Amino acid sequence: MTSRNQQLFELSQKIIPGGVNSPVRAFKSVGGNPVFFQRGQGAHVWDVDGKSYIDYVGSWGPLILGHAHPDVVKSVQKTSENGLTFGAPTEAELEIAELICKLVPSIEQVRLVSSGTEAGMSAIRLARGFTGRNKIIKFEGCYHGHDDSLLVKAGSGALTFGNPSSAGVPQEIAGHTIVLDFNDAAGVEETFKQIGKEIAAVIVEPVAGNMNLITPKPGFLETLRSLCTQHGSVLIFDEVMTGFRVGLECAQGVYQIQPDLTTLGKVIGGGMPMAAFGGRRDIMQCLAPVGAVYQAGTLSGNPVAVAAGLTTLKLIQEPGFYENLSDTTRQLTDGLTTCAQKHGIDFCAQSIGGMFGLYFSKNIPASFAEVMACDKNGFNRFFHAMLDKGIYFAPSAFEAGFVSTTHGSKEINETLSAAENIFAAW
Ligand SMILES: *Cc1c(COP(=O)(O)O)cnc(C)c1O
Repeated sequence: MTSRNQQLFELSQKIIPGGVNSPVRAFKSVGGNPVFFQRGQGAHVWDVDGKSYIDYVGSWGPLILGHAHPDVVKSVQKTSENGLTFGAPTEAELEIAELICKLVPSIEQVRLVSSGTEAGMSAIRLARGFTGRNKIIKFEGCYHGHDDSLLVKAGSGALTFGNPSSAGVPQEIAGHTIVLDFNDAAGVEETFKQIGKEIAAVIVEPVAGNMNLITPKPGFLETLRSLCTQHGSVLIFDEVMTGFRVGLECAQGVYQIQPDLTTLGKVIGGGMPMAAFGGRRDIMQCLAPVGAVYQAGTLSGNPVAVAAGLTTLKLIQEPGFYENLSDTTRQLTDGLTTCAQKHGIDFCAQSIGGMFGLYFSKNIPASFAEVMACDKNGFNRFFHAMLDKGIYFAPSAFEAGFVSTTHGSKEINETLSAAENIFAAW
């Protein structure tokens, strides 16, 4: 008998490319069919066949308070009753902008947008407009949304100007992007030595969360900061994933580095489509209508999204919020590591705040190449075995995982006992 999941996926593929509205949802990396969800509550989701899962994806990061948090839902309901959108300023936008600037000291001014992609592409244009330069540096394996300038992979040669990583991106645009290795400070120094005067911006995920999870080596972010300062380039921290996920002052607070611009998304929308970019006042003042860099959005600062974001940003300020979230996440990663290693499996894991990485390898990877060398088949086997037992991890060996405040000892223990069963029979 075919399941409802299977039926829906077959129908969807006829009318939506690949049956999904964002590629990684399609399970291509792990094989099999995606799960269609019907309902979420706290740490749990239910699929269209009625099966329940403990969810470690959390919609890829936004749901730090779990699914359908009552206060967030209430704020969305209440705000909706007064109109869904105005295309004119509202008081709540001011309130969330003030809150973002208060929580993240490097952000003096901020503009709201609707997705992380929009935030990233706007920050790049702004950095180019501010500096009057075209070239940008990004790092292999970091994802900043699907803007043309950022869908670029390393080319060949010493000073590698990028090649498009997607069809449809003109080589001329990709050629303005230089792709270097994350955690390779020397590579960045060398590039700045050669063409520092041409570099508009360096964009980086301060903790890389789109190639599994890679933390910055001591000195890496510091080097980016000092090179950008020295050469008048704009340092952009893409904190769409790490913002309010690893701590109340984001990754820049954890590592004590002030970028010039920051992009935010995911958590700040509380599950609604909202993102932001902000930073130094002198740079932000280059934006229209004050300055010459154009950027706009019909639904930017949408009242319903802002309400969900404001409620979320209020709740994460409760004392002990990040300590508890970090403890829970560490219980998961420590527990999985102990369990796998007991059974002689090359496996390790780490976490920072409420995000984590699982690696089928002896050591925790510190570069794109090391992540690529992990045992992908091992992960895929683990993924499907866990899915079967009602534990939903991200359907790819190259994605970070997320824990919410609604995950507790009960969920962690259930997860660890499922893993124990699987690793014992590995
Ligand atoms: C998710 C993500 C984006 C893109 O955000 P969207 O809202 O999906 O457009 C950009 N940068 C990072 C680091 C992300 O994790």
